[in-house]
Amino acid sequence: EETAAKAAAAAGMADAGAPTIFDKIISKEIPANIVYEDDLCLAFRDIAPQAPTHVLVIPKIRAGLTQLSKAVPEHKDILGHLLYTAQAVAKSEKLDKGFRIVVNDGEEGCQSVFHLHLHILGGRQLTWPPG
Ligand code: 5GP
Repeated sequence: EETAAKAAAAAGMADAGAPTIFDKIISKEIPANIVYEDDLCLAFRDIAPQAPTHVLVIPKIRAGLTQLSKAVPEHKDILGHLLYTAQAVAKSEKLDKGFRIVVNDGEEGCQSVFHLHLHILGGRQLTWPPG
């Protein structure tokens, strides 16, 4: 993990933001209901679910991705991995009738935690447009 973090920093993706609550979830300092984990990412249930299924998928190494709009070309692989993982989690959560992936970015996007995360929402009829 340390090596990957150094590589990310070398690629110009050094972390700019302050640590967030998600760092403590990654390090297991605070508990979370984890539904999927691999070397690169972690998926866990949102503490304030907005749908019967509400899971967050986050990169284990933030590597500058405090928010999606900070992405640089070196992030393309992890971005693809997060989105691929989100649909796999949707399948394992049996969201076969449909689901939604959301990324809130910045103030007007209602982002509250500055460590990139994909929301997976499902298990009920969702409405459009969102609020
Ligand atoms: P955002 O508003 O930044 O798009 O989403 C942050 C999400 O993180 C919110 O849906 C919020 O409920 C969730 N969240 C914040 N703190 C915690 C926590 O300590 N544990 C878990 N499981 N989710 C959290």
